[in-house]
Amino acid sequence: VELYGLERWGNGYFGLSAEGMVTAKTQQSSVALMDIVEGMNERDLKMPALVRIENILDAQIHRLNTAFSEAIEKVGYQGRYRGVYPIKVNQQAQVVEEIASFGARFQHGLEVGSKPEIIAALAMLEEPGSLIICNGYKDQEFVDLGLQAVKMGFECYFVIETTTELPIIIERSRALGIKPLIGVRAKMNTQVSGHWNSTSGDRSVFGLTATQLIEVVDLLKQEKMLDCLQLLHCHLGSQIPSIQEIRSGVIEACRYYTDLLKEGAALTHIDLGGGLAVDYTGSRCAGEQSRNYTLDEYCEDVVETLKQTLDEQNIAHPTIVTESGRATVAYSSILLFNILDTTHFEPVNLGTVGANEPNQLTQLRGIIDYLKPARVQECYNDAHFYRHEIRELFKRGAVDLRTRSVAENLFLDILHRILALVEDMERVPAELANLKESLADIYYGNFSLFQSLPDVWAINQMFPIMPIHRLDERPTRQAVIADITCDCDGKIDRFIGDPEPTSTLPLHKLNEGEEYYLGVFLVGAYQETLGDLHNLFGDTNVVSVRLDNDGGFEFVKEIHGDTIADVLSYVEFNPKDIQLRYRNNAERAVREGRITARERQQMINTFNTSLQGYTYYEKET
Ligand code: PLP
Repeated sequence: VELYGLERWGNGYFGLSAEGMVTAKTQQSSVALMDIVEGMNERDLKMPALVRIENILDAQIHRLNTAFSEAIEKVGYQGRYRGVYPIKVNQQAQVVEEIASFGARFQHGLEVGSKPEIIAALAMLEEPGSLIICNGYKDQEFVDLGLQAVKMGFECYFVIETTTELPIIIERSRALGIKPLIGVRAKMNTQVSGHWNSTSGDRSVFGLTATQLIEVVDLLKQEKMLDCLQLLHCHLGSQIPSIQEIRSGVIEACRYYTDLLKEGAALTHIDLGGGLAVDYTGSRCAGEQSRNYTLDEYCEDVVETLKQTLDEQNIAHPTIVTESGRATVAYSSILLFNILDTTHFEPVNLGTVGANEPNQLTQLRGIIDYLKPARVQECYNDAHFYRHEIRELFKRGAVDLRTRSVAENLFLDILHRILALVEDMERVPAELANLKESLADIYYGNFSLFQSLPDVWAINQMFPIMPIHRLDERPTRQAVIADITCDCDGKIDRFIGDPEPTSTLPLHKLNEGEEYYLGVFLVGAYQETLGDLHNLFGDTNVVSVRLDNDGGFEFVKEIHGDTIADVLSYVEFNPKDIQLRYRNNAERAVREGRITARERQQMINTFNTSLQGYTYYEKET
């Protein structure tokens, strides 16, 4: 388990059973993920599958809210904390529903950025007084929905992102007779590191400049509505790795807050947006995919900085709002898939080819006689040279396929021997630095990177990946992972390491007749809806699991993944039309005497069953 860093990135939600299996755990209970896989197999829910552990989501909402309450208490802050969950981070109905339900006791609200998202929020939130923060560009319809939400008892804020939306809000609020709750999003200058740092800065596309903020204030004043301006919104970016940057962002936010108050705004809420990072690598540093702070530290530093900065100006403490998405949902989802096959880059046949062995092959064979640490580079060069010579001879027809096969095997044998020497050397020649990767196994996983882990492909995101069983056995192979799309980008060859990423993952040798399952962890944020239909691999099966207090668990929800008919219809094929066309083709084949009518029927049955089947690789059961 140490090999995979589970203790470092698991946030206390994952452990290891005595039988060498990864468990999902809460304070009361722990369940082996393999038991969940078994339950899925019994229900015909095949791999790949996304498993959501409800208790983890519940626990994260609880942790976030209690960490802020405790920080408020400790620092002596006079305001309260109100969390909202940004729907865009995972819009799946089950997830939003669970957040609304688990968050009700804290009045945890929702952040929305579009009309579909506000509609989802209005349907899912039940707790009166819940906060709805409306970001994004708002047209009249969006504004009407938000105003009606206020009337229904929600605290629904319109955060002004562009000056053009304010006249719409003013006009619609007068037309409907509903006083709006207004916020302004300030353009932040605090520069943060990490992948999402273009959210702030002069060229950021988000937020109002100082001049635009003044324009908003002036217009509201003129319309006698400045008392509606109650919230300041400042979002620095997602996954902020450094607490120092968060602190400076809060200080800048306080400056906007103070001066907007001076301008006469009736501010009561300060919304610091998202940014609370997830430690994907477990390295606890300010690196892009990690963070140099804990949740408690984040809350304390935010609350303390607000108090100190505002106390200097004698300003009443506002309600603190944050829009933590990633940190709320990342932990609760795990992608599981089975390994379909492996390729090893190892010699299998070092035999001879008889009396007429070409000289180049003999030379290749002879390299191991002078292989030693001082001559690794020379041996590496020679191996490449003689293998190239043999390949050239093969192209010209001067050596046969068997000879070439022996040469390729000898070459691999030499490279493995070089690797063994290099691993013990202090200074490795530059050309040999990637030898381990070039000899690593390829494990073919039953999943689509583009559908299930799009950020790995798009932005080099790393997620913790490990086998979910056989952890009482030392893994003996080093591998990279390929998915089942026909795309050379569909691979994972960068894995979390301590402290540096590694290019291979230790895995077990496959056992004959036995499935081997890997889990990709912390995938609850952004992955599900950003995924696409590359090669027409569709949504995977999904199960929501609730752990009981007695060590058992319950499948609370299950969603069968897309069928082939589903994905074809997404790209405008009409399944009925397809069936008809196939039938016509088969009928023509009968007419032409290539198949019998009975064969035609078998073919149509196979075709139709397939249309209703899963898009991923299905093993015969
Ligand atoms: N709020 C806003 C306005 C955002 O744009 C984002 C994402 O970038 C978030 C909240 C969520 O951020 P995170 O997932 O880092 O918590």
